[in-house]
Amino acid sequence: YNNNSMNQGNSKIQVVLRKRPLLQKEIEKGNGAEVVEVVNRQQINLLDPDEINHRYNLHYNVNKNRFKETHFTFDSVFDENSNNFQIYQEVGEQYLNDILEGFNTTIFAYGATGAGKTYTMVGSKDMPGLMNIMLDGLFQKVKQKEVTHDVTVRIAYMEIYNENLKDLISSDQKNLDLREDPKSDVTLIHGLTEVEVTDPQSIANILKIGAKNRSKDSTISNEASSRSHAILQISIESADRAEGLEKEIIVSKLSLVDLAGSERAWSNKSKVSKLEGAKINQSLLTLGNCIQALSEQSEKGPSKNNFIPYRGSKLTRLLKDSLGGNCRTVMIANISGSILSFEDTYNTLQYASRAK
Ligand code: ADP
Ligand code: MG
Repeated sequence: YNNNSMNQGNSKIQVVLRKRPLLQKEIEKGNGAEVVEVVNRQQINLLDPDEINHRYNLHYNVNKNRFKETHFTFDSVFDENSNNFQIYQEVGEQYLNDILEGFNTTIFAYGATGAGKTYTMVGSKDMPGLMNIMLDGLFQKVKQKEVTHDVTVRIAYMEIYNENLKDLISSDQKNLDLREDPKSDVTLIHGLTEVEVTDPQSIANILKIGAKNRSKDSTISNEASSRSHAILQISIESADRAEGLEKEIIVSKLSLVDLAGSERAWSNKSKVSKLEGAKINQSLLTLGNCIQALSEQSEKGPSKNNFIPYRGSKLTRLLKDSLGGNCRTVMIANISGSILSFEDTYNTLQYASRAK
């Protein structure tokens, strides 16, 4: 039984920034004005909103005192002309071999509501998301590995909404219980549906069912999805057929997460009730705290064992064995360049550039 992610190791997070194209309403209301400028494949600049207002004949009020940084650097920057396949080629595909070798991997989409998280992870009508594309790629690798190994792939699809965990594959709406296994230190989910999958088509069907169940939560589906975290977990087990009786089984997990809108972490004028707002804050803030503690740890070196506050939220408990250690972690921070989203965009740039 071997899971490489449990070992100590460098837990550096790869942070990529994705700027989506302007939407029709941003072109109309904001005269197409953009407040960010992609400089190159690693760098992005925030422009002076006063100057943009002037240049585009707009009058948006932006409190500039809050905005101190204007240059931001990331591991990769994708501009509005990029598509989900390019993101996969640059930040997803490289992890497939590691995943099959036993390294747990997590890819998050972070950003304010409307910034493009769901488009990136789940996709749209005409563009498959990273969930589909990663799984297609993974299955090609699995097929190759099956020449010499017995490989089992299982998938689970969950949602965290108001700190309640729900199964997105089963239409049963009851809450699932999380429990820490004292022996392995892994979080177990009681009653979770795990489907064994053998081909990409059955995965596509499960993703469709999950998306349907996700939006069923609320009469206003956009509201529900902006407050919920959707987590797709793929577990892979492989055993070498040649090894005889003492088989080593390699296990690993790939988690693909469409996070709740990050604006809830700051906004006090949002319409969300206090309770719900506080709970969303809890998951996103705890995730932020864990990522920060992990990145401090990776700077100090693996000998220093930082306290990582995984226990602070459902999301981080669930991802405890998939963040840090030898795990691979990618954060895709999504922004709009529109002047209408100036504050959200600034907050995301700042948050994401600190996660590295
Ligand atoms: P979020 O999940 O962050 O709230 P969405 O993914 O729903 O945001 O995106 C908001 C809108 O922008 C949707 O209409 C979506 O289709 C569109 N959109 C987002 N990213 C892109 C992109 N890269 N290219 C084209 N349209 C996009
Ligand atoms: Mg969304």
